[in-house]
Amino acid sequence: MTNLLTLTHVARQFGKEDNRFTALHDIDLEVNDGDTLAIVGPSGSGKSTLLSILGLLDRSYTGTYALKSTDVAALDSKQLAQLRNREIGWVFQNFNLINHLSVLHNVVLPMRYNSTIAKDTYQQRAMAVLEQVGLVDKAQAKPTELSGGQQQRVAIARALVNAPSLVLADEPTGNLDSATGAKITELLMSLAATGTTVILVTHDPVVAAACGKVLQLKDGSIVA
Ligand code: ADP
Ligand code: MG
Repeated sequence: MTNLLTLTHVARQFGKEDNRFTALHDIDLEVNDGDTLAIVGPSGSGKSTLLSILGLLDRSYTGTYALKSTDVAALDSKQLAQLRNREIGWVFQNFNLINHLSVLHNVVLPMRYNSTIAKDTYQQRAMAVLEQVGLVDKAQAKPTELSGGQQQRVAIARALVNAPSLVLADEPTGNLDSATGAKITELLMSLAATGTTVILVTHDPVVAAACGKVLQLKDGSIVA
């Protein structure tokens, strides 16, 4: 098993000296390539804060975060953006697709921020990930013409198109009925077989149970 990321004594505080609030306390975490991890816990327990740190959107933590053996704190902002664009794909509860662009165009977009991918391969790569999520026939459709489950599949294709090491999902089934949510969960879990690591936040015990590991947060600390 190859290590993908390690958090050591990671903490995150918000606010100024007289009004400081600790959203995450002393988090130690190791995740390997191909792991599936659910982050669960009550509202306000620090799930999204942790996901933002893992996704390289928030560097205002203390402690150490190493992604692919790189200390994230040591990167300049250009290197950080590069690492983020190449290695991390995001999936959101509300899909966050661009509604006036076609499905294909939505999936192509992240490649424009990844200089390692040749322009003349954009179309082929986008179609390959649409095939992976079963939506080749919707490539020319607009997101609003699709069901919620189909829109989330497009979002997953978009998250995969740069072949990231890590897919992060914040409540990916939160807006879907349970049957559709189960299919999306199954699709996300299938990524692990190809070595992609999936970390998701969920309130749904069924989704959490599908993951290989479950991290339970309470008041910013790992309790299980
Ligand atoms: P969860 O996703 O588990 O519901 P969050 O990670 O969003 O929780 O928030 C954890 C705690 O940190 C909450 O008490 C929240 O109010 C606080 N928090 C999150 N982001 C900020 C911020 N930008 N400024 C101040 N407090 C924040
Ligand atoms: Mg949250």
